Amino acid sequence: MPSIFTKIINREMPADIVYEDDYVVAFRDINPQAPTHIVIVTREEISGLASLPETGGHTHILNAAKKIAEHENLFNGYRLVINQGKDAGQTVNHLHAHLLGGRPMAWPPG
Ligand code: AMP
Repeated sequence: MPSIFTKIINREMPADIVYEDDYVVAFRDINPQAPTHIVIVTREEISGLASLPETGGHTHILNAAKKIAEHENLFNGYRLVINQGKDAGQTVNHLHAHLLGGRPMAWPPG
């Protein structure tokens, strides 16, 4: 069964898509945790970091994050987060990174 993010990628579910290329699709998080909160998803349905292939389009998550951050005017900084597994609070088993910005971030994260 396709993940909820694959449905968004295939336009079977609505989302506010802000960026896409051959490898990743990015859209605004439905439950934003910062003024800018964008989810960057691999087109390939990889279940998470723990299942990461050695090579492939997932590396474009970083390039996409840089481009989106520039486009969103996050000149004061931003954070890129990948939650892997239960302890990290992963809720969607389809590899994605959270791009968060628009406010100061605490460290360490909760
Ligand atoms: P994670 O908890 O790291 O697996 O992140 C999943 C993220 O996907 C959460 O921040 C959710 O708010 C977000 N999310 C879930 N469903 C949707 C959706 N339909 N559109 C946009 N974001 C979503």
